[in-house]
Amino acid sequence: MKIHKKLLWVLLAMSTLIVSCSKSADPLEPIDQYPPTPIPIPTPTPPTPNPPTPNPPTPSVFAEDSSLFLGNPSNATDNINNYTNFLFDERYYAVSYNRDRATANWSSWHVKSADYGNVSRADDFRANPNMPSGWYAPDYFSYTSSGFDRGHLCPSADRTATVEANSSTFLMTNIIPQAPNNNQAVWANLETYCRTLVNQGNELYITAGAFGEGGTGNNGYATHIDNGRITVPSTLWKVIVVIREGTDDLNRIDLHTRVIAVMMPNENGLSTNWRNFRVSVDAIEAATGYDFLSRVNSYIQDYLEMQVDDL
Ligand code: MN
Ligand code: MN
Repeated sequence: MKIHKKLLWVLLAMSTLIVSCSKSADPLEPIDQYPPTPIPIPTPTPPTPNPPTPNPPTPSVFAEDSSLFLGNPSNATDNINNYTNFLFDERYYAVSYNRDRATANWSSWHVKSADYGNVSRADDFRANPNMPSGWYAPDYFSYTSSGFDRGHLCPSADRTATVEANSSTFLMTNIIPQAPNNNQAVWANLETYCRTLVNQGNELYITAGAFGEGGTGNNGYATHIDNGRITVPSTLWKVIVVIREGTDDLNRIDLHTRVIAVMMPNENGLSTNWRNFRVSVDAIEAATGYDFLSRVNSYIQDYLEMQVDDL
């Protein structure tokens, strides 16, 4: 009996143990629960929306020392409905492009000593990748065998500080079919003279363009090239405003500011002296319908535009 009593105690003790063990298997204990109770994830607070940025802070072509600081001569815009006066902002210069001519009306740029560096000519003439869809885009080969040079408006040599800047001038939207001897002689001489002015401590605001139809290249007279897709201009022009390198440019343009304007036919065999082609800005405004120096005080503008450079 004594043994039986002992056994009973043992059984009692065991059952207590079992009960305490089963307590550890309590459903509140995660140890043998499947699936485990998910740990509550705090709901993320929605990100505070960024305040709307009006425009990316890219340097504007209208800023001081930029392409169109003195004005946008034809009020070119980047609206594709404005297909005869479409604005390409190429950062290193601005273009008014004419879809129907497949050339620029004009290119405009600013140049100062810092734009001159050691970068060599990229020579990567190419179609403008931003040409609106459906518009013909002249490319590397469009002028081949035409008898006309791929003439730069904004010159390669004015953009030698970086590879990117130089390469940008080889977009075909900055190129016109130019009589080779014009491009390589009188036009080149004026470009070189501009670089002399910059090297003497000046900064220049330049706009160059072309209008009309029909020029004479190495294969004779032509109104179009590239199977009729590209118009050959009859006349080239350029307007150059010369000021000492510095700031507050608009307020430094006065009645003594030098403005060089030239207009010349798109032909070979011209005088190589650019001075022989000087005209007033008024003459180019009359021929093109554009308004140059439109941001310059109108009294000073009117006066400067009547003058013909004689230095
Ligand atoms: Mn300046
Ligand atoms: Mn004007």
